[in-house]
Amino acid sequence: MNSMLTLLFSGIVACCAHSTGDSVSRLLLVSFDGFRADYLETYKLPHLQEFIEDGVLVKQVTNAFVTKTFPNHYTIVTGLYEESHGIVANDMYDADAKKKFSQFNDSDPFWWNEAVPIWVTNQEQGNGASAAAMWPGTDVKINDTTPQFFLKYNFSVTFEERVEKIVAWLNSSNPVVSFATLYWEEPDASGHKYGPDDTENMRKVLEEVDNHIGFLTNKLKAFGLWDTINIIITSDHGMASCSAEKLIILDKCIGRNNYTLIDKSPVAAVLPRQNKRVVYNLLKKCNSHMKVYLKEEIPDRFHYRHNKRIQPIILVADEGWTIVQNESLSKLGDHGYDNALPSMHPFLAARGPAFHRGYKQSTMNNVDIYPMMCHILGLTPQPHNGTFSNTKCLLADQWCTNIPEAIGIVIGAFMILTTFTCIIIISKNRVAPPRPFSRLQLQYDDDDPLIG
Ligand SMILES: [Zn+2]
Repeated sequence: MNSMLTLLFSGIVACCAHSTGDSVSRLLLVSFDGFRADYLETYKLPHLQEFIEDGVLVKQVTNAFVTKTFPNHYTIVTGLYEESHGIVANDMYDADAKKKFSQFNDSDPFWWNEAVPIWVTNQEQGNGASAAAMWPGTDVKINDTTPQFFLKYNFSVTFEERVEKIVAWLNSSNPVVSFATLYWEEPDASGHKYGPDDTENMRKVLEEVDNHIGFLTNKLKAFGLWDTINIIITSDHGMASCSAEKLIILDKCIGRNNYTLIDKSPVAAVLPRQNKRVVYNLLKKCNSHMKVYLKEEIPDRFHYRHNKRIQPIILVADEGWTIVQNESLSKLGDHGYDNALPSMHPFLAARGPAFHRGYKQSTMNNVDIYPMMCHILGLTPQPHNGTFSNTKCLLADQWCTNIPEAIGIVIGAFMILTTFTCIIIISKNRVAPPRPFSRLQLQYDDDDPLIG
C-alpha cells in the first residue's frame, strides 16, 4: 500500500514538473545481448543494482518468437511481432526476390523496410537526431534513413569505444541527439560458449558487463548528462543449457535432397524441395522433442505465420535440445526456443526523469517497450502490437492502477470502516448503568413527606 501511495504522489509531482519542463526528453536504449532475467538474482552486480534502486525494474520480459537476436532487437524498436516487421530469423530466404539474409549479409534495406524503427520516426518527427553505437539495423538505410550518427557494425570495437562515441554524440548540442542506442555482444557469446549454468565463467563475464554499466554511468556523469537523460537497459533474449545427449539428428529421418535448411536450431526453417506433405510427415516422426508445424498450423500465441519469409515448415526444439543435420554439438547454450519459457526471458531496468524510483513489476512484453519509448520522446507511434498501459506503472507522469495493491487498499479501507461502524454500534447499544444515587435520591424524595 505504501508503494501505491508513493506512486500516486510521485505521479502528481511529475505531472506538475512535466507541465513546466522545457527541455527535450532524451532516451538511451542499451542492450546487453543474451542477458537472461535470472542472472540478476544469481550474480552480484553492484552497478546494475544501484541503477535499478534509482529507477524501475521489470523482472521478466516476454520477448517475441523466435527468441533470437535480430528478430527481437527489431521488435524492441518497432513494437511489432516478427511476422509484422519482417525480420523473422537470423537467417532468412525470400523466395520471390531470391534473396538471402544472414548476420553477415544484413545491410540490404529490402529486409528492414517492412517496418519503421523508432530512430527513423524520431528524426522524421523532428524532436532531434538519433545516434547508434550499434544495434541491428542502425547501419542500414531503412525508409531511406539512417540515424544521423552511427557506427558500422564491428564486433571488435570495444565497449569503451562505443560508449565514448555515444556520449560524445549525446553531448553535442547541434543537433540535439534525443534518441540513442548502445549494443554489446555479452553475455550472449559466453552463454553460448560455456552454457548459462557454468557459474564460474558466467560470473566472470557478468562482472565485466556490470563494470561496463559502471563505465557508462561514470561517463554520463562526467559529461553532466546523468540527471537529465532517460536510460533503458534491457536485452533481446535469455539462454538455455544444451548438451550432447539432447541432439535431434535430421539425417536419421530425412534425406538432405528433400529440403533446404534456411534457419537452424533451435527453431529451424525448412523449405521443402519435394512434396511438402512428404517432407512434413518424415519430420513429424523424427523426434519426440521436436514440434513440427506446417506454416498454417503455427500456434496463434507465437504471432509467427503471416509473412512470406516464414518458411512452409517450422521445427521447434524442446528447451535444451539442438536440431542438427548430423553435426556434433557446437555450443553449450542456445536461445530461440518457445518464448513462454522463463529461460528465454530477459529483464528491463530503466532510470531517469521519465521513470519512477524504486518501483518493481514482475512482467511486461517487449512489444510494449516501443510505445513507452515513443511516449517518453513525445513521438506519435507507428502502428504496433504493444500496449502502452502495460508500462504506465513504470512512468513518472502516468496514473497507474496496480491491481493487487488496489485490492489491498479496498480491503484495508473496508476493515477500517467496519471497525469504526462496530465501535459506534457497540457504544450506542451499551446498556445504561444502574443509577444508585438517583434511586437513593428518589427514595429520599419519596420518604420526604414522612420525614416532613
Ligand atoms: Zn545468441
